[in-house]
Amino acid sequence: MAGRCLIAVMASGYGGLPEEVFALGVASKLRVDRNSTARASSDFGRIVAAAPEAVLHPATPADIAELVRFSTSSPSPFPVAPRGQGHSARGQSLAPGGVVVDMRALAAEGSGRRGGRVNVSVGGAAPYVDAGGEQLWANVLRATLKHGLSPRVWTDYLHITVAGTLSKAGIGGQAFRHGPQITKVLELDVITGRGDMVTCSRERPGPVLSDAGRAGLVGIITRAQIRLEPASKRVRWIRLVYSNVVSFTRDHEMLISKRASKLSFDYVEGQVQLNRALKEGPKSTPFFSSDLSRSLCQKMELVLEKLSFEEGFMFTKYMSYTQFVDHVKEEKRVLRSSGMWDVPYPWLNLFVPQSRIFEFDAGVLKGISAGANPVGVILMYPMNRDRWDDCMAAVVSDDDVFYAMGLLWSTVAAGDVKRLERENKAVLAFCDNKGIRYKQYLPHYASQDRWQCHFGAKWSRVAELKVVGPTWDTVARAEDFLVFNASDSGSYVAGEMLVVS
Ligand SMILES: Cc1cc2nc3c(=O)[nH]c(=O)nc-3n(C[C@H](O)[C@H](O)[C@H](O)COP(=O)(O)OP(=O)(O)OC[C@H]3O[C@@H](n4cnc5c(N)ncnc54)[C@H](O)[C@@H]3O)c2cc1C
Repeated sequence: MAGRCLIAVMASGYGGLPEEVFALGVASKLRVDRNSTARASSDFGRIVAAAPEAVLHPATPADIAELVRFSTSSPSPFPVAPRGQGHSARGQSLAPGGVVVDMRALAAEGSGRRGGRVNVSVGGAAPYVDAGGEQLWANVLRATLKHGLSPRVWTDYLHITVAGTLSKAGIGGQAFRHGPQITKVLELDVITGRGDMVTCSRERPGPVLSDAGRAGLVGIITRAQIRLEPASKRVRWIRLVYSNVVSFTRDHEMLISKRASKLSFDYVEGQVQLNRALKEGPKSTPFFSSDLSRSLCQKMELVLEKLSFEEGFMFTKYMSYTQFVDHVKEEKRVLRSSGMWDVPYPWLNLFVPQSRIFEFDAGVLKGISAGANPVGVILMYPMNRDRWDDCMAAVVSDDDVFYAMGLLWSTVAAGDVKRLERENKAVLAFCDNKGIRYKQYLPHYASQDRWQCHFGAKWSRVAELKVVGPTWDTVARAEDFLVFNASDSGSYVAGEMLVVS
């Protein structure tokens, strides 16, 4: 989970909107009733709450531009924050004392544009999809699969918006090879901090984006053009279980290496299970079947022979491509039915350099987080730095390989939020004390100093861009799967690697 939007400001102590805002052309689309503002006062994380003065329901991007222009030219600019699905964890989509733009209105029922904001183009040399920034990735998948096509890189969860993830980076199990989602963007329509509506692409850099999808996003995204590839139909999902972090990381790093790419691994993601014993796993199942071509079976056999997972702890599932990329939907259904979905999530996402991952494991996973038997998911998977570049607003670790560490805690009992927030602080303090040069993904800093520290060498470029935002101190708040790309058979084989710690 890192670009960000300069317009998404977190100002404090703002006492109300200028009266003139209610004389604008968009005034009739501003809602100031308590129901509307209350709904835009919190997010998925339920850790931060702050009410806007109003919520804009835009009918067109021009409505948003008018509001932003007004705020920017006002003697007292107010925060304007775009909100997609509100699935941020730390209040990134809130606008205390300002206006939240409910992006979903661009495709609302009755607007006549609901299905019209996802358009697949297959006519030219390379297929692509044009998707409204407010569109769910799940809608994009549905539309593109009708043409046998799919975007290359997915986040684990698809019921978040195109702009919500592109404004951050968008990472998942394919990012080690293809980079984050923003690398697959061909063109963007953006409303800048001045309220200009611009279209940016590598060929036509906008005034604020030198390279669409790569320079980082400093405006409100209303459309993204995304490259498509042929989609696979079937996925074979293999779970490989490890009992020690050394073999787990060694195998992971081998699988994301260029050497391994010849073996057609397409997806690598890892998960840590604390305080579990190996015997708790499901019954082992045979891996190979007649579903796969002989050449793929041979390839996989070669790869699997090189891995050091626990003998007898390889498990296989079969599913459609849609079920695979959208599998968190099923997990959500289960959690929701047990009342475990709508709870506070004190999440912490870090990029940790590969050279320090064992210290992180010892100090955090086997140290700070070990005792309390926390509930949630711990993601741990490596990515290649050369798939990211310095033009991106997202900031990653210095090492050639770095780990995405997602401490995705759920709270189940009174006091969990405070305890887990304390632990999150302790994790950061541990890294700081040990000199582990981590970077936060989906960061949420309150001061300019912290942002400056976060951006490091990129700061001067980011600081230049502040002129486009109404205020600056805003910047941005801003299972181990292996997929074997069975391009020869039109199938994928996916595997899940767990380390039981
Ligand atoms: C269950 C779950 C699983 C997740 N898995 C992953 C994952 O695998 N990989 C990953 O990278 N992330 C993941 N995330 C994080 C997610 O990508 C971000 O929180 C994302 O920003 C949420 O999108 P949203 O549509 O809910 O945006 P919101 O929460 O509405 O907004 C989030 C941020 O995006 C900005 N934003 C929203 N719309 C626009 C716009 N039109 N233009 C510019 N900025 C905009 C907001 O201002 C805010 O800063 C996950 C989140 C959840 C809840």
